[in-house]
Amino acid sequence: MTSASWTREGAVALIELDNPPVNALSHALRAGLFKCLDEALTDANVQAIVLMGSGRMFCGGADMREFNTPDRAREPSSHQIRSRMEASSKPVIAAIHGSALGGGLEVALGCHYRVAAPGTQLGLPEVKRGLLPGGGGTQRLPRLVGVARALRMIVEGEQIDAAKAKEIGLIDAVIDGAFRPGAIAFAQAALAKEGPHPVVSLQTATNDDPSLFTAETARIRKEKRGLDAPLECLACVEAATRLSFEDGLAFERDRFLVLVNGNQSKALRHVFFAEREAARIPGIANDLPLRNIRQVGVIGAGTMGGGIAMCLANVGIDVVQLETSQAALDKGRATMSKNYAGTVAKGRLSAAEMDKRLGLIAGTLDYTALQHCDLVIEAAFEDMEVKKIIFAKLDQVCKPGAILASNTSRLNIDEIASATNRPQDVIGLHFFSPANVMRLLEVVRGAKTADDVIASSMQLGRTLKKLAVLVGNCDGFVGNRMLSPYSREAQFLLEEGASPQQVDQALYQFGMAMGPLSVSDLAGLDIGWAGRKRAAPTRPAHLRYSKVADRICELGRFGQKTGAGWYRYEAGSRTPVPDPQIEALIAECAASAGIARRAISSEEIIERTIYALVNEGAKILEAGFAQRASDIDLIYVNGYGFPAHRGGPLFYADTVGLDKVAAKVLQFHKAHGELWTPAPLLMRLAQEGKRFNM
Ligand code: NAD
Repeated sequence: MTSASWTREGAVALIELDNPPVNALSHALRAGLFKCLDEALTDANVQAIVLMGSGRMFCGGADMREFNTPDRAREPSSHQIRSRMEASSKPVIAAIHGSALGGGLEVALGCHYRVAAPGTQLGLPEVKRGLLPGGGGTQRLPRLVGVARALRMIVEGEQIDAAKAKEIGLIDAVIDGAFRPGAIAFAQAALAKEGPHPVVSLQTATNDDPSLFTAETARIRKEKRGLDAPLECLACVEAATRLSFEDGLAFERDRFLVLVNGNQSKALRHVFFAEREAARIPGIANDLPLRNIRQVGVIGAGTMGGGIAMCLANVGIDVVQLETSQAALDKGRATMSKNYAGTVAKGRLSAAEMDKRLGLIAGTLDYTALQHCDLVIEAAFEDMEVKKIIFAKLDQVCKPGAILASNTSRLNIDEIASATNRPQDVIGLHFFSPANVMRLLEVVRGAKTADDVIASSMQLGRTLKKLAVLVGNCDGFVGNRMLSPYSREAQFLLEEGASPQQVDQALYQFGMAMGPLSVSDLAGLDIGWAGRKRAAPTRPAHLRYSKVADRICELGRFGQKTGAGWYRYEAGSRTPVPDPQIEALIAECAASAGIARRAISSEEIIERTIYALVNEGAKILEAGFAQRASDIDLIYVNGYGFPAHRGGPLFYADTVGLDKVAAKVLQFHKAHGELWTPAPLLMRLAQEGKRFNM
């Protein structure tokens, strides 16, 4: 059983938390700590107590896996631990190294004194998991460091280092030099002081700015659209300024319980654990030797090639970028320079660092320059013939063992691999635009891709500070494949009677970063149009097809870049303006397709589009193109602007109840036919009363 232990050095008891890897405050640790405290407090030889963490840190916080389980409520609670410490006449000192986060910092706030090693991180990140610091953090922190600073740490989840913590009075000293002797020396000095020792909960939290909380409420509503936790955090800090400590604690407890039992925090915790899970690949050993990736070739210096080259250079990887002409190379370089210069202008990058990164990217027109590359990422035109020619050339020039990757959005990786004599080295690395910003990386496994190529690609994702998710090789992989029915339903809804702004607004209100039609205007309508024209000869004639998007493109309206698409845009503005010309065009297409237009509710918009994602996601999962439901959720949250506080499409369906979702899908199938063929997995889980995410 993981726990805590204590030793004595002279008059000082040293209690050590020992629950690797982060000393999470599980029930076992709480029990161990309480016992140690009890023994040290009653031992006449002990006059001061130092609380430390073993291993990497002081304490990473509560054990999140215990939430919503009986263990969470088992005594001793961390509240009892803090009360015991605060009531002690012997000084209790938290000696913090590594980090004190969440419940860890709240334990430290229950001590009389806090000292930290240089560089230690302190914070209350609960808000990021849809929670609030429920261990007295919202009541003690404003009392100790003032309301304004406490708000930043509690509402924003801001972390600070030891130096800053000393400056604002969160800790009493930074201990330079050997940490343990330094902490003991601090304890000895403390016990020499006259008591009583300072107790944070006895202080008051004052606020002299009467408009502060109203202004903060307005700001949070705007900046953190739809999120409950930041508002509850704010309410708790406000309570600290007007209630007694005990009443404030009761208020905090009450609000914590609302959040911890609510769907938002469950969703955010789901996303948190899903990220850790995504790195696991059943069937591939953790210790499989990886291929070294020191130099990378990038084919193409367009939108994606440029962004990919930048994110490689950002982590110090040498890049050789190949193009078809010097002009294309120059254009690509100018774009990368402009992007870096923008970051420099914002003060987030030094000019020297920009030069260094640009210096890592060398342009070439000659394939032999790729002969030493450990990995080549192709980001040329989305055309199978172009890709096959490139991969055949790579097969000739690249060294044995080099990984050959394509950034294709939806082309068949196995067909691309067939252009080489080394399909085991070929993989899809699907970056999202802008590649230097977006966190998601779909790693697409081909039929013959070698295990170490997959594992090395997942590792590259981590090196690039991306979230790599392994997916299978199907049309559009996971993300874009699901996007197709989602966009399809958005457009069908237009023909049936909704306006573009109504569709976008309903999904924006649901929490999507942007509505689907605004997204197409931003991305450009021409790419999809080209794809539809290519697919036209093989499109099944009996299936419903909306011609609206094609008609818009025929008008030369390709979205923001042409000043018009689904909306119109004033010169220099990105604000979509509803356009009567489009409304008329939609009505005309509906009439010629024989569709009677009707009033469409926001509820129908959400159900038609989001359940289209869910139904397709279920098909993908059942066919094994995603390893687990949570991987699909991560892809939507990190690549497609799905609200994290709804946990991703499949987690969202779980919260609605799969029986309800399945019933709607069956209803849509009956009304709209084949395109809504229900996913067998969804039907089965619904019948069995199960969920996608266990
Ligand atoms: P782009 O048109 O901006 O850039 C393509 C570049 O490749 C051009 O500079 C072109 O000169 C160069 N190129 C074409 N053929 C070449 C060849 N044979 N050898 C070397 N260079 C060649 O296109 P993009 O948006 O960067 O897309 C590139 C790839 O990334 C496509 O496969 C696309 O589907 C995929 N992708 C695009 C996005 C996106 O949002 N734009 C997102 C993910 C993936």
